[in-house]
Amino acid sequence: MKKIVMTTPLVEMDGDEMTRILWKMIKDELLTPFIELKTEYYDLGLEHRNETDDQVTIDSANATKKYGVAVKCATITPNAARMTEYDLKEMWKSPNGTIRAMLDGTVFRAPIVVKGIEPGVKSWKKPITIARHAYGDVYKNSEMVIPGPGKVELVYTAEDGSEVRELVHNYKSAGIVQGMHNLNDSIESFARSCFNYALDTKQDLWFATKDTISKKYDHTFKDIFQEIFEKEYEEKFKEAGITYFYTLIDDAVARVVKAEGGFIWACKNYDGDVMSDMVSSAFGSLAMMTSVLVSPQGYYEYEAAHGTVQRHYYKHLKGEETSTNSVATIFAWTGALRKRGELDNNTELMAFAEKLERATIQTIEDGKMTKDLALITTLNNVTVLNSEEFIKEIRKTLEKEA
Ligand code: NAP
Ligand code: MG
Repeated sequence: MKKIVMTTPLVEMDGDEMTRILWKMIKDELLTPFIELKTEYYDLGLEHRNETDDQVTIDSANATKKYGVAVKCATITPNAARMTEYDLKEMWKSPNGTIRAMLDGTVFRAPIVVKGIEPGVKSWKKPITIARHAYGDVYKNSEMVIPGPGKVELVYTAEDGSEVRELVHNYKSAGIVQGMHNLNDSIESFARSCFNYALDTKQDLWFATKDTISKKYDHTFKDIFQEIFEKEYEEKFKEAGITYFYTLIDDAVARVVKAEGGFIWACKNYDGDVMSDMVSSAFGSLAMMTSVLVSPQGYYEYEAAHGTVQRHYYKHLKGEETSTNSVATIFAWTGALRKRGELDNNTELMAFAEKLERATIQTIEDGKMTKDLALITTLNNVTVLNSEEFIKEIRKTLEKEA
């Protein structure tokens, strides 16, 4: 069989622990036998990040800006325990944080729906994609404990020295206070990423804030979305047959649990943090969740939504058998390959991505799956496979289809 040829390389970001093991198996079994795989390889494994003083992470983000599409393996975000485990020079920052800051994007997370893994919410028939704004609000706040009576004010000092003040509270007793911010530029790129992604995937877009209570802060989010929609996207949405729908966050939550799915739910940073865990666990499993970072300049970085599955890796190191689910990592690759195909007009590559996704889903629907899914499936007589057997089984399904 002739292998599929690629014209432009993908940026390949290798990672850590169990997902690094799966990464190699996926390439060996499911990709290189079928594609002349062209990648520019960056090793974001913690050892190599440490050796390069984390320069490799920056280089990989710059390469993503050059080529447009990246695929990333899960990576360790170092903490105190990892400092000793890997004898690190520094507690390096989260690679995802570094990459997000450089590409300035929005993270889209969608469940992979298969028969036999039923959503906890009965009305959900199609995936719900969460689009989470990844800048500011409570994640970049400043806080104070107020020890006793006194006054707290917000003070804005302009460059010319003039001041605007706003009373937060006149404390009669002890309490707490929090200040947070956002930037119009960041909200605008969030809005454009969401509108573009809706057009790309031909799904309706929902957005919600609490603008009735937060008449300046949240209202600005609402206004920026509305303005950009009317100016740049309304016509395109009509042509694509999709809609943009704004409502209050509490109304959105109530509607989401009664909806069928099949739309994108844009969330402010905190709402996205909370709601993406609700949506992913209600759909079944973090190992069945895709994640893509989309920048307003049109750069794409695909990854799995879960981490490096450390517990399984330690078992693997002890020579014990693991049953780690590789679906989200496979879909990171197919997402990136499909996007590369789209950008290069490589229909063969796009078709292969589709086929590999179908083979993966088919394998599970045929009752062959890893332990995490076997525990929650509604299918009877399933076969529980180990990490490697599952990938090999997908290859069999793929070759049958070919
Ligand atoms: P995790 O890797 O997501 O795993 C947590 C638990 O979820 C696992 O122990 C396992 O449960 C289950 N699980 C997750 N993915 C699975 C899969 N593919 N197949 C089967 N089970 C799966 O989170 P963590 O253990 O908290 O974090 C480990 C490392 O990942 C940390 O160093 C963290 O910094 C990093 N991390 C990276 C990213 C990223 O790069 N995007 C994201 C999150 C965390 P059982 O043990 O019960 O089987
Ligand atoms: Mg969270």
